[in-house]
Amino acid sequence: MARSTSPLPDPIRERAEALLTELCTISSATGENEGVRRVAARLAREFSRHGLRCEIREVPDNGSTSPVLVASGPRAGRHPLLLLGHLDTVLPACPPSRTGERLVGTGALDMKAGFVMLVAALDLLAQRGERPPLDLLVVAVPDEEAEGRVSEMAARHFSSGARAVLVLEPGERRGSRETLVVGRRGLTEWRLELTGRAAHSGLAFWEGRSALLAAAEWCGQAHRLSRPGRGATVNMARLLAGTHDFVDALPAGARLLGTSSQRNVVPDRAIVEGETRFLSLAQGSRIVARLAQLADRLSQRRGVTATLNIGTTIQPVDPCGAGAELVQRTVELAAARGFELEIEDDRGGVSFPNFLAEPSRIPVVDGLGPVGGGMHTREEFVDLASLARRSLLLADLLSFLCDHLVPTKKGPHRARPRPGGRGKGG
Ligand SMILES: [Zn+2]
Repeated sequence: MARSTSPLPDPIRERAEALLTELCTISSATGENEGVRRVAARLAREFSRHGLRCEIREVPDNGSTSPVLVASGPRAGRHPLLLLGHLDTVLPACPPSRTGERLVGTGALDMKAGFVMLVAALDLLAQRGERPPLDLLVVAVPDEEAEGRVSEMAARHFSSGARAVLVLEPGERRGSRETLVVGRRGLTEWRLELTGRAAHSGLAFWEGRSALLAAAEWCGQAHRLSRPGRGATVNMARLLAGTHDFVDALPAGARLLGTSSQRNVVPDRAIVEGETRFLSLAQGSRIVARLAQLADRLSQRRGVTATLNIGTTIQPVDPCGAGAELVQRTVELAAARGFELEIEDDRGGVSFPNFLAEPSRIPVVDGLGPVGGGMHTREEFVDLASLARRSLLLADLLSFLCDHLVPTKKGPHRARPRPGGRGKGG
């Protein structure tokens, strides 16, 4: 039976599966703060068993407050080992069910199983007579699945100074293998504004300077900067062009659509909005500079003014950054247990690691959580065999991080207090 081949002892495995079922029955969709608090309180009870000091902080959020669970080891000071996850789910809960190794439940995969994995790892360490790292700091946030204001703030705040960050979000299944995540793309938003010269298309066509034509040319050129694989990409999300009274007063101008009005005018206004995504800040700067250069050249060639305004930037997690070696070490720890892991160096969506204080300088292991499928749907499930494997892996990783500095390419960067030793504390 599967029971005897599980990498977890039966009592720990059974406890973990029961806890996951229980957590999945608590409805904690983003904004259902009572449910989110109940999940936080239930997890706090589990973490407290392992000597973590648990506190559910009420954080101001849009005129109200939202709960953030903070569970700290005795020496979680300014340079903690930070574990991050979210308590909320996309859908409100339906009763969970189990078929074989599949547990179907709302938020089972994303990401209640991630926290259960942590509880099972702590149970396993306790059974081995080991303690978790004394500087452990677990932070569970309430709104990652929606706008994520509290999540972003908490990730930034608690990660400043962290010696390493472990993210309990799910990995992915790839054939017979599962993944860990090392790289996440960042993005920069931009807006291109063009002004040309209006002219009658019948009487003075060649005197006009079409902002629309220039915008379309720029879009084509900008798109061709996109590269597959690890290259940067440029997405034109909106293109609006026409006469300035159409573009600059769009709600009123929209009545022109489908009519003959102003079709006889060379359009003098255009706006293009979009974003570029990249895997390193250097790559991001290069592509933004190229976009500006294209705008300059075009304005000269087409006789229009073109201004590229740069908006918000969300930092990438560089797959070759500080996390690469710790991820490699995690893969080795898995291999020592006969568990083959693949590295995802280019996960597209923005998530926790992008909001860390310094995403490419803090060693991050992301996607540590068990795999499954149907994320954010009524069919969402977690693979319980993966939950068991990854609980064992997390126990081994925490054990490793008790005794080792975090490896980085620049060499070990911070000492941390050893269990039972006389670390700096505070
Ligand atoms: Zn998630």
